[in-house]
Amino acid sequence: MAEIRIEHVRKQFGSFVAVEDSSFVVHDGEFLALLGPSGCGKTTTLRMIAGLELPTSGKIYLDGEDVTFNRASARDIAFVFQLFALYPHMSVRKNIAFPLVSQGVPRAETRKRVEETARLLQIDHILDRSVSGLAGGDRQRVALGRSIVRRPKCFLMDEPLGTLDAEFREVMVHELRELHNRIHATTVYVTHDQHEAMAMADKIAVMNHGVIEQFGTPQEIYAKPATIYVADFIGSPPMNIVRFTSGLQRGARTVQLDGVDIAVPEVHEDMPVGELALGVRPEHIRFSDASPLRGRVYGSEYLGTDQVVTVETSSGKVKARVPANRSFNLGETVGLEFNHSKLTLFDCRSGRAVPSSINAEARHV
Ligand code: ATP
Repeated sequence: MAEIRIEHVRKQFGSFVAVEDSSFVVHDGEFLALLGPSGCGKTTTLRMIAGLELPTSGKIYLDGEDVTFNRASARDIAFVFQLFALYPHMSVRKNIAFPLVSQGVPRAETRKRVEETARLLQIDHILDRSVSGLAGGDRQRVALGRSIVRRPKCFLMDEPLGTLDAEFREVMVHELRELHNRIHATTVYVTHDQHEAMAMADKIAVMNHGVIEQFGTPQEIYAKPATIYVADFIGSPPMNIVRFTSGLQRGARTVQLDGVDIAVPEVHEDMPVGELALGVRPEHIRFSDASPLRGRVYGSEYLGTDQVVTVETSSGKVKARVPANRSFNLGETVGLEFNHSKLTLFDCRSGRAVPSSINAEARHV
């Protein structure tokens, strides 16, 4: 398998910049998700790695070799598309064998590799069935089988589960991750679905308008968002962003919200007076009668094991995830307490997290 290295890659279509100065490494055997909304440059990034699109500038390395100008066919990469065209009149076996037959691999070797691949994907019992009668999940497995059988250096996948219904999608998310655990193929996976990215990837690159806003593990991205955009994109419901105006001094450990001192992780940089935001995940807010930070219950969403309660404060609405058995009335005044060690401060002018003890090691791209 292989390492993929992208150095200062940029792609322009006419005057439109689709990908802006991207640099990252996907280590050998790692699973990277390129995550972001439609049009943010995920597919363009993937197509440049595949060799289907040339970067306007920058370099792409595969296992240390500069492949920036190599044709797709010379890169030994498997590209799994969303709508993978299988040959409906052929059997599963023939579909999987197809790339090897085209390469002229001897019959016995082809048979062995097809059977190995089918066992890996747990479709060895349907090898002689026609693909036309298969259900969506099995078709996806055959499509994957056709990529795996070539033993490429890495896999590139563009929303491969996009056409499946929600239930199947969830099953395939687990299957793809399990498959990855078994074959450890370096993988780059494009998705707009944060749940897919969080469930499968070792690393996530969160993209926005052609820019990688943050590159890190799912845990880093969730707990230490580098920008307001990432904080708002990841999490369901997303991180609360409570805006206020203040200055901050290096070493500060509190901020003032509605005249109340709120403890925060130690700030590592002076911030001139301006608009700041406190980022707090719903599960890091609890109701506390003693807290001077007050708000009125505006609504709630019962989720079985817990509930998400919207509370209106004088700094705006915040959502708190509290135990399902906590009862209250709409309009009731409650006290809110934030788990100070989990808070992120943002500078609203740049949209970036203010360096502090919580995100000292988080990487800004
Ligand atoms: P989606 O999930 O909708 O495909 P994406 O994040 O993968 O979104 P890209 O397909 O990479 O986004 O496209 C990024 C931007 O570049 C879009 O605004 C798109 O319209 C533009 N773009 C992509 N390919 C071309 C092209 N060949 N010519 C002109 N513009 C293009």
